[in-house]
Amino acid sequence: MTERTFSIIKPDATRRNLTGKVNAVIEDAGLRIVAQRRIRMSDAQAKKFYEVHAERPFYGELVEFMTSAPVVVQVLEGENAVAKYREVMGATNPAQAADGTIRKLYAESVGENSVHGSDSLENAKLEIAQFFTEADIVG
Ligand code: ADP
Ligand code: MG
Repeated sequence: MTERTFSIIKPDATRRNLTGKVNAVIEDAGLRIVAQRRIRMSDAQAKKFYEVHAERPFYGELVEFMTSAPVVVQVLEGENAVAKYREVMGATNPAQAADGTIRKLYAESVGENSVHGSDSLENAKLEIAQFFTEADIVG
């Protein structure tokens, strides 16, 4: 089934000029970038986006990191895009990520791990709606 998922190229990657290299991995995997915008995430946006992790010990550090430099927010489209992008990203901790995945290639640590990808179709819809309107998405 053709799906859309939400992606963020995180500050550790934009800082190192890795946007193009990350996008190459995404496109080589057959996912289409149907919307993309470089933004500086506000504190409120980052807090809301990671609300589900509010009780975790790393929440404050995560919000600080996500607002520390620009990010690139994206909508990706393709066959089983949600699961496929999770595969392409690799495990949260780059030490556990499979060869060829974005996190294995580029992530610096479990926190500064280069990319975000939605974990379910339902969350993908909510996350996309936080940053894009339907008119922004050109499939
Ligand atoms: P994923 O991004 O793979 O879905 P999680 O949803 O578990 O991972 O966590 C969200 C984000 O929080 C991670 O991508 C990472 O940036 C950060 N994070 C997760 N676990 C840790 C940790 N143990 N220490 C620091 N940051 C973490
Ligand atoms: Mg997650």
